[in-house]
Amino acid sequence: MAKRNAGFTSITARWLRGSLLITAILVIVAEALFLYSTYQDLYGGVRQAVLSRFSTIEGQLSATGTAGDESDASASRGLALRRTVELFDEKDKFEFMLLDASGTVIATSSGTFSRELLGGTDFYDAMTGSSGIGVSTFRTSEGEKVMAVTALVPHAAEGIAAMRMVTSLTLVDRRLMQYVAFSLGIALVVLGVSAWSGLFFVRSIVRPVAQVETIATRIAKGDLTVRLPESRYNDEIGRLCQTINQMAEALAETERMKNDFISSVSHELRTPLTSIKGWVETIATRAAPDDEIYRRGIAVISAETDRLYAMVEDLLDFSRMQNGIKLDCQVLDLVAEATDAALFVEARMQKEGIRLIYEEPPEPYPVWADPARLRQVFVNILDNAIKYSRPGGAITIVLSSTPETVTASIRDQGRGISPEDLEKVRLKFFKGKNSVRGSGIGLAVVDEIVAALGGTLDIASKLGEGTTVSVTLPLYRAGQEHLHDPLHLPEQTPDSGAQA
Ligand code: ADP
Repeated sequence: MAKRNAGFTSITARWLRGSLLITAILVIVAEALFLYSTYQDLYGGVRQAVLSRFSTIEGQLSATGTAGDESDASASRGLALRRTVELFDEKDKFEFMLLDASGTVIATSSGTFSRELLGGTDFYDAMTGSSGIGVSTFRTSEGEKVMAVTALVPHAAEGIAAMRMVTSLTLVDRRLMQYVAFSLGIALVVLGVSAWSGLFFVRSIVRPVAQVETIATRIAKGDLTVRLPESRYNDEIGRLCQTINQMAEALAETERMKNDFISSVSHELRTPLTSIKGWVETIATRAAPDDEIYRRGIAVISAETDRLYAMVEDLLDFSRMQNGIKLDCQVLDLVAEATDAALFVEARMQKEGIRLIYEEPPEPYPVWADPARLRQVFVNILDNAIKYSRPGGAITIVLSSTPETVTASIRDQGRGISPEDLEKVRLKFFKGKNSVRGSGIGLAVVDEIVAALGGTLDIASKLGEGTTVSVTLPLYRAGQEHLHDPLHLPEQTPDSGAQA
């Protein structure tokens, strides 16, 4: 899963986009609402504290000056207000001021007329607004954040138009910052926990699904031996794994039955065919030569038997490949094997007007191989060379060696293979555009046998000029048998061992 782990798989990405994003948005909205209401509470609390003090003072004012005439009342209210400011006992928390109608400070609780406290629009708001109250928040020239609340004095009080209290917001802001930090912390924890648990959950789906994908791909490519491991959970994924395993099992069973059927049918067909072929050849040599119909009939039977025989051989090759090619190796001389193969096809080549160029090398080339399968390699390659050659052409067999290997090259001057076909000619059942007959299994078998022998198969071709097929095998050295023993050829049915 290296590749998948490197980036987000689509399920993880979808989960990130969907679930986690929604959680994040909800958390941010909740955070914003919480902080906004906290801000309102804290700042509102300060304003409320000031207003309640104002209303106490106003209450006292209403009581003052109820006796006497209006100017006496005004004077005594003015006096009462000034006294209240002087005696104000919360000087540490609030700066209490009295303002005249132009906003000029008449008296302050601290006794100083600090200019920086004169900012803010609260006085103006109180004068112009209908409620007679103004609130503003601003920074003093020293940078301190303050809230100022102004309330108009409801009764005439000797030129005093408004009361004003200014209080520092430093502590309130500090408290607000604590709330911000606290709620941000909670939000991060919530997001972290939901991301972690979500990722854990998504991974628990993504990982097994990726494994299912890998295994299913291998099964789709024809590897019916792979199985998914038993899932720990009996959930949907666990059951999917079981189903895929059952499916692979059923496919493998069908495949086995098919192979067994092909294998037994081809063996059954081959025995009578061999005897028919033998008898046709015998009768052909002895027949009365003057009966034309008879001779033509025998020739046709002979040719058709050959074709049937070749088809049965292909079927046998196929079932051998499906069941794993069984090798029965021994030390062989590649030179002798090549010579045998050349002799085997010589008659047929003569009949088709093709020359054989083969110079037997003087020294032997020992290889560790199965004689029947090695013969099959040569016959299949030579059969193709003859099939695709033109009369008058030549087929050259060359043996050469390096200190480690020996190579047998079979070169024809036939029609050649097009480049796009060349990559595919080793595939089972592949037949090129130039194909004349055959089932497309010949080179696939050759490729498999050569690989099983620890060798390599090279095919070079030029359209219209010819094809060279080279088989390279390791040279045998005493004690090296194990190196070439078939490593990858399991599953043997009793039938597939039987050979030509
Ligand atoms: P088949 O059994 O049908 O001959 P092979 O696997 O032996 O199948 O070959 C596959 C294809 O490769 C053939 O159909 C043919 O197109 C091409 N081919 C193989 N050998 C030669 C060759 N010597 N010259 C030209 N084409 C060839």
